[in-house]
Amino acid sequence: MAVIPVALAGRAYDVMIEEGLLARLGEAAAPFLASYAGGRKVPFVADANTYRLYHAAVDADLAACGFAAEWFVVEPGENAKSWRVLEQLTDWLLALGVTRKDHVFALGGGVVGDLVGFACAITKRGCGFVQLPTTLLAQVDSSVGGKTAINTGAGKNLIGAFHQPSLVLIDPLVLGTLPDREMRAGYAEVLKYGLLGDAAFFAWLEANGDKVLAREPAALEHAIATSIAMKARIVAEDERETMDRRALLNLGHTFGHALEAETGFSDRLLHGEAVAMGMVLAARYSARRGEISHEDADRATRAVAAAGLSASLTALGLACDGAALVDHMRHDKKAEGTTLPFLLLRQLGEAYVARDVDLADIAAFLDGELG
Ligand code: NAD
Ligand code: MG
Repeated sequence: MAVIPVALAGRAYDVMIEEGLLARLGEAAAPFLASYAGGRKVPFVADANTYRLYHAAVDADLAACGFAAEWFVVEPGENAKSWRVLEQLTDWLLALGVTRKDHVFALGGGVVGDLVGFACAITKRGCGFVQLPTTLLAQVDSSVGGKTAINTGAGKNLIGAFHQPSLVLIDPLVLGTLPDREMRAGYAEVLKYGLLGDAAFFAWLEANGDKVLAREPAALEHAIATSIAMKARIVAEDERETMDRRALLNLGHTFGHALEAETGFSDRLLHGEAVAMGMVLAARYSARRGEISHEDADRATRAVAAAGLSASLTALGLACDGAALVDHMRHDKKAEGTTLPFLLLRQLGEAYVARDVDLADIAAFLDGELG
């Protein structure tokens, strides 16, 4: 088992990674179940898919350890990150008599994790929670770091809080039921860690990415553990993104966000797919500025394409120009006048925050990419 500590003073926690961990949850999460020893039900939140697939294994293991779960099940998809569902969930937690010493268990992807994390940040002014991430994206990214949020009419993740989990249990075995498209989208965030901060990991992914996507146990666990170790390090250095450290995790996200906005945040383009394309654009723009070579930009492009992710803007078939995409970027909370901090590459494996990027130049670059 890999155990990766997230070293936050006063809020330190472990991320445990091992095949079959979900079926041994009672033992692995024992300290966080202890408050229910008197017989109260343990609150578990899932979406309809993760509930259907995994609640029986969880119920059986809890029963063997002398506990019983009470389940709150949300519809799969982004709509669960809403005021309405948040209200239902917090009402449910209060009705169960959850206290600040209790932990709520989140079994699902980033949607369930973000929703439960925020509900626990505000219930009784903060109760504990345990993340049981079931998508690759959640296992390498959203379950660790303490960003929690819901969506509103004004946009995604605009209402939320920093609230760290007390434990993250990652069972790569559950990825066996994850649709391939979701697997590839999560893999984009894995590639991101290599590109932004670890050239050797990027080279390893070039050679072994197919094994990760095929869920070969050793390769998958290595990819998850390496990704989480980097995220844990960066979060420990800059928990609230007040320095440029945590911002590095946004590599590919400014371009990607514009693409998600242009496609209406719809199923046409999943977040990870947008990030993958965004990383290609960041690499190609870095090459245009002479910061990395065109060969290195091609390597980044090939790594994205090899995972079955779109690596060319023309292939997305967008009916817009560079100015329209830049217009979406202007709504970014970090935009200032004609510029925006951009995550670019100094080399493969080293991202940095560029503050001298002119949005008119980005629009011209994107026009070229759109063909
Ligand atoms: P998701 O939670 O919507 O899950 C994707 C789909 O996979 C859903 O239909 C779900 O039911 C299904 N699913 C989940 N696990 C499964 C499994 N093991 N087998 C079969 N199906 C399964 O999507 P996601 O990509 O995990 O998360 C996206 C969300 O994460 C977004 O809301 C995003 O804002 C958020 N996010 C948060 C952070 C953070 O730091 N908090 C970081 C990145 C993304
Ligand atoms: Mg992301």
